[in-house]
Amino acid sequence: MKSETAAIHLSNNTTDSNRPVIQPVTLSTTFLHGEDSIVYGRFDNPNRASFEKVMAALEHGVDAAAFSSGNAAGSALFQTLPKDSHVVAPLDMYHGLQKQLLEVFSQQLSVTFIDMMKPDQVREAITPATRLIWIETPSNPLIQITNIPEISRIARESGIPLVCDNTFATPILQNPLDLGADIVMHSATKYIGGHSDVMAGILVTRHNHEWWEKIKTVQAIGGAVPSPFDCYLLCRSVKTLAYRVKGHCANALAVAEFLQKHPGIEKVMYPGLQDNPYYQLACEQMRGFGGMVTCLVKGNAEETDRFVASLAFFSNATSLGGVESLIERRARVEGPDSKSPENLVRISVGLEHIEDLISDLAQGLDRLH
Ligand SMILES: *Cc1c(COP(=O)(O)O)cnc(C)c1O
Repeated sequence: MKSETAAIHLSNNTTDSNRPVIQPVTLSTTFLHGEDSIVYGRFDNPNRASFEKVMAALEHGVDAAAFSSGNAAGSALFQTLPKDSHVVAPLDMYHGLQKQLLEVFSQQLSVTFIDMMKPDQVREAITPATRLIWIETPSNPLIQITNIPEISRIARESGIPLVCDNTFATPILQNPLDLGADIVMHSATKYIGGHSDVMAGILVTRHNHEWWEKIKTVQAIGGAVPSPFDCYLLCRSVKTLAYRVKGHCANALAVAEFLQKHPGIEKVMYPGLQDNPYYQLACEQMRGFGGMVTCLVKGNAEETDRFVASLAFFSNATSLGGVESLIERRARVEGPDSKSPENLVRISVGLEHIEDLISDLAQGLDRLH
């Protein structure tokens, strides 16, 4: 089954004797005891089972575990690491997960942040206590591409599991498990949900092993699970994921090409531009370049804020992956310890008509200069 077909058919397991075409929401928190039946809503739920089934299929894994947010998925995984484990993670890591490692897990785990574009740094960072290598590609907000096969080779040689945050690529554009990762993670709040109205996270594993059992235990006992209605929304969304992602990619490429030619823009970061340093690598490990575009505006923080505020179709809000276009100046969102340049804006290119998006950006930039 191809992704488009799997997304529609595997997300829809009918549990009702009336045989509805669309799986109903099962709100019950408890189930009659019996052979193989679900026991309790925190352990399992038919809507969650459907979401996990379709995600495992889309990511070419054998099992999946859904969580109440992307950060809860990351947290469940970190909680399974033995005390005093060492983690190797990218400098350009989603800042919420970076913060989690540094603040929430500081008593249990140590972490070395490195430049994942330089695989030698991974080798150098590994210690006898390293129990996890974490990658995120394309990365946030610099849209850098990590070489998944190369990092997975290093991980395998060292006997360390590799986890890939695949949020920006989605399973439509990239399958890290096929490229050597052991577990793939998504913030399903983004493209998978796709309509900015549901928070969730998902982990998918390549193999069943003792570590995965521990993760499933943290899911069931830790209890950071998505609600049946959240899972219903996610299954509904996943059915259109492939088509939304194709639209996001086409619009993002057009936006990147427009911005690159505009004199009001200093630099554009988008792997689909042929002069982007990651173009070749992206062609090798991805099936498209994604919907996220980052650029540097010619101007200071105040001018950049003015540009962002002048747009009609790009809402000034954080998050990404929804049908509506969003834009934000990252340094403003990340706060005083931000490493992002003050004129860096991150754009989640939505599914509006491309001519409306381009003319909106054009009027905003023209007003600035
Ligand atoms: C948003 C995001 C997360 C965190 O997910 P939440 O659903 O907000 O908890 C993790 N990684 C990436 C790349 C993200 O964009």
